Amino acid sequence: SCPAVTRSTIAALATGRPPSAVAIIRISGPAAFAAVAGLCGSLPPPRRMSLRTLRDPNAQLLDSALIVVFPGTATASGEDLAELHLHGGAAVVSGVLDALTRHPDVRLAEAGEFTRRAFANGRLDLAQVEGLADLIAAETATQRGQALALAGGVLTRLADSWRDQILSVLAQAEAGLDFAEDEADVAAHIAQASTERLHLIAAELNALVADSGRAARIREGLTIAVIGPPNVGKSSLVNALSTRDMAIVTPIAGTTRDTIEVPMNLNGAAATLVDTAGLRATDDPIELEGIRRAKARAAAADLVLHISAPGVDEGGMPVGAWRVLNKCDLDPSAVTEVDYRVSALAGDGIAALRAALADWAAAATRPGEPALLAHARHRAAFADAAAAVQAAAGTDDEVLRAEDLRRAAHALGRIAGRVDVDDILDRIFGQFCIGK
Ligand code: GDP
Ligand code: ZN
Repeated sequence: SCPAVTRSTIAALATGRPPSAVAIIRISGPAAFAAVAGLCGSLPPPRRMSLRTLRDPNAQLLDSALIVVFPGTATASGEDLAELHLHGGAAVVSGVLDALTRHPDVRLAEAGEFTRRAFANGRLDLAQVEGLADLIAAETATQRGQALALAGGVLTRLADSWRDQILSVLAQAEAGLDFAEDEADVAAHIAQASTERLHLIAAELNALVADSGRAARIREGLTIAVIGPPNVGKSSLVNALSTRDMAIVTPIAGTTRDTIEVPMNLNGAAATLVDTAGLRATDDPIELEGIRRAKARAAAADLVLHISAPGVDEGGMPVGAWRVLNKCDLDPSAVTEVDYRVSALAGDGIAALRAALADWAAAATRPGEPALLAHARHRAAFADAAAAVQAAAGTDDEVLRAEDLRRAAHALGRIAGRVDVDDILDRIFGQFCIGK
């Protein structure tokens, strides 16, 4: 399945919404340079930033801009590519895009279309494309590291090396099919060695799959649910921990009726604090719905902070939750068995709780160790490969074994997007912004 060759030329704003200090417009395709030359007259030398005056077809001044052209196939999109570094005003950007698309072969790009061309032209494989999307979405250092590794081709190299090993066992198995009757001993010996090797390969593939939860937690971020009775200071604590004033804090019990999610950076690990509705007996249907959601979020969270306050009945607490006593400023000597004592209002104990959360996040993500299968697609491909290798190891039938090994190699080929890509490309490229 070869992606269709695209001959049209695309243009898009690659930077954020104007106004900004600088706006970069990218143009990719066979007519890219002609369209740019139409605005500035002469093109600068390849790969050298040059100052040019841009004018529209009516010779109206559009901007004075830095221009760079990348000819050939060794470009970010795998075809002629130009970048215009403009002053980031709305009228400049719209005027230049308008003038460029007056060229009959130039149209505005769709989301992810530059990257899609890079993939179609063999400049990036599919796992690298996913790494690029992760890099753009990365909010913490750990996410950035994981995304850069994926974009750099780490996973593809790994999948390919396992694929090579499987194919070499397959070659042996196929050679074994051709052994004559009197060579049965040799054939049996080779089959035995192959079986042992396949068990080892399956075990290592399964170990990678088993570690995929950690990879996904790094990519998607950890979830920390904050639960407890109304008015104990859950929202105040979320604000104090996150240092962002986003959750609503009021003295009226039952204010937080829906869940509010606040991002947090725990020493490089991304986390989301989920501020939930207070758990209490109520007839209010909206509040009941909030409580239902709070319980669902807590059940799915990586960690639950159960908040109480001096003199407040703790109510039910999920197993494994951290017990946090808030409002310790009100009664510093409150005798309750808890893990942490804090005051969201006065700030006491907040730094210690935050440090404990950072330690917990580090243990959950182990940022120093590469985590490889961060996407469900990657996990599924490796799990399929592991299952097929396991099946190959478990059969004495050479024909079935060869079939299983081909299936395993095929599954690993999905990582780079060499096979079975047709139904996933739109989803993967659609997540990029326009201009990427
Ligand atoms: P929630 O319903 O559990 O989310 O509680 P809120 O965060 O909305 O806080 C309820 C009330 O308790 C508000 O009036 C807060 O100002 C107050 N409060 C929150 N934390 C503290 C604290 O550490 N000490 C004291 N004295 N009051 C607090
Ligand atoms: Zn609240």
